Amino acid sequence: MTAVALIVDCPRDPGVETALRCSRCETPICPKCLIQSPVGARCKSCARVMKSPIYTLGTAQLVKGGLAASLGGIAIGAAWIGLALALPLGGFFSIFVGAGLAWVFTKIMDFATGLKRGPIVVALAIAGIAIAWGMQFLVFDPRIAWSGVLAVGVGAYLAYQNLR
Ligand SMILES: [Zn+2]
Ligand SMILES: [Zn+2]
Repeated sequence: MTAVALIVDCPRDPGVETALRCSRCETPICPKCLIQSPVGARCKSCARVMKSPIYTLGTAQLVKGGLAASLGGIAIGAAWIGLALALPLGGFFSIFVGAGLAWVFTKIMDFATGLKRGPIVVALAIAGIAIAWGMQFLVFDPRIAWSGVLAVGVGAYLAYQNLR
């Protein structure tokens, strides 16, 4: 990162000076041609990538994704409780539980949304993981349930990496 903004001519609009850069490809963009996206100002070609079909969910896919996250959350939550009862291991072991959560919810989202990617799919997967974790609070002492937070963190991070 340079402290001094570099002012250049916009490659799309000759004669227009700008210090802005596309948040994805770093191409200079000016206020005339930038497109505001949820992740910052982007050039036209990168804004088009954002709108590509794999990032767009139809209503049916949204409903399916939401249902899959909820039902998957409950099913995986039950399995996680079973695992925690059979193998009361915490600490380092939580990383494997987290990796397992991310893997399962990536598969669930791939199936429910037809391999879609993007912030909505990430949010649904993390919601599913949160539901799975939430079930521990119904069964275990809150202190034990809270120890799942590491697995949830690892799971949410890896799910984000897989589905963003
Ligand atoms: Zn760009
Ligand atoms: Zn421009």
